[in-house]
Amino acid sequence: MLLAEIISVGTELLFGEIVDTNAAFLARELGERGVILHRKTVLGDNLGRVSEAIRLALSRADLVILGGGLGPTDDDLTRESIADALGETPGEDPELLAWLEGLYAARGREMPQVNRKQTWLIPGAEALPNPVGTAPGWFVRTNGLDRQKYIVALPGPPREMHRMWREQVLPRLPLPDHALVSTTIHTQGIGESNVAELLAGLTQNANPSVATYARKTGVDVRVAASAETEAQARELMAPLLETVRAHLSRWTWGEDGQTLAGALGVGLAGRSLGVIEAGSAGALCGLLADAPGFLDAAVTGDHARLITLGLTPVTLRDAGLVSEGAALELAAGAREYLGADIGLAVVVGVTGDNAGQVHAAVSSEKGHKAASVNWPGDTAQMRERAAVTALALAYR
Ligand code: ATP
Ligand code: MG
Repeated sequence: MLLAEIISVGTELLFGEIVDTNAAFLARELGERGVILHRKTVLGDNLGRVSEAIRLALSRADLVILGGGLGPTDDDLTRESIADALGETPGEDPELLAWLEGLYAARGREMPQVNRKQTWLIPGAEALPNPVGTAPGWFVRTNGLDRQKYIVALPGPPREMHRMWREQVLPRLPLPDHALVSTTIHTQGIGESNVAELLAGLTQNANPSVATYARKTGVDVRVAASAETEAQARELMAPLLETVRAHLSRWTWGEDGQTLAGALGVGLAGRSLGVIEAGSAGALCGLLADAPGFLDAAVTGDHARLITLGLTPVTLRDAGLVSEGAALELAAGAREYLGADIGLAVVVGVTGDNAGQVHAAVSSEKGHKAASVNWPGDTAQMRERAAVTALALAYR
């Protein structure tokens, strides 16, 4: 078992000027490879605090991964901090120096003296080549009390970090034999707490496991298992996955990489879909853009125009545009005036008393149905949810 900690270094990270996406990336990578992650730490560019954190992390974990602070300037202190934590003095590596000078020479420039520290190494440290930048990483092997420990230092820019992690670090790590498999079931029309109730008793297990995630498109339920080989992991996961699928089948619209629009496209089975949107600023069209069968759309809040698309003046006068009646008339209108086999309409109240009110309707040769929701949120959220509500209604 390999136990890891991540230390992200950078004052701009600490103060929230940039978001620590590197640590999120590394956490996923480690999890997928069976490495246990116990802590993520964020620190500013401070030698004392970073070296203290390294010492502490080394006392608890086998693998300490540092991100950032490998640049040439005075506030880039990760090398100094590792050296300090291990009680070593860094020295210039002639090979690295030649490489870096060569890099500058190839661009017709002379290497600034401040860059010399990017050629530093300490005993036990191996330089990790950086194919897309000037900062080499470090891979340090150091002896713990009873076993080998590893310190990895990678540059902050994600483009550099990701590549070096995959190409340089992973092959050097003693990763456990491990396979992780998972299936994510996408649902719509059921809240996260109701899903939790349905799956009560199943979500406590660690392996295989079940977890729920509230997403914009509804609640996702992820079933996962890990074992030494992929086949064993699949076998371990299979019975639980079948149980969860059975419990959720009424609300399920897809699995894994499927999108709601894609699922709808399949459900259309060659029939065409016409869309009328009022108040949702084209959010529904945005989701449907690539769905097969999506024929035509009208995106407008203009009453006169909507009347030419099937909205009756009576409904407009008595119920208003943001009403179930209007959505139903426009869904029928989408078939009639846009020439589609299936008509889908959504009306969204953006301001005033109607703000947050959403009505969607679908009309086909088999009949029609409508759905209404009213959620708090800002305009962008309302529009997004309106689009998802309409898609889910059409799918069902
Ligand atoms: P450089 O040689 O570019 O200075 P560095 O290793 O010194 O690299 P930093 O100076 O800490 O890295 O960060 C450089 C840039 O990389 C940051 O301005 C930011 O855009 C990005 N970055 C750094 N750390 C992270 C992180 N944890 N998550 C996402 N982006 C990051
Ligand atoms: Mg820097």
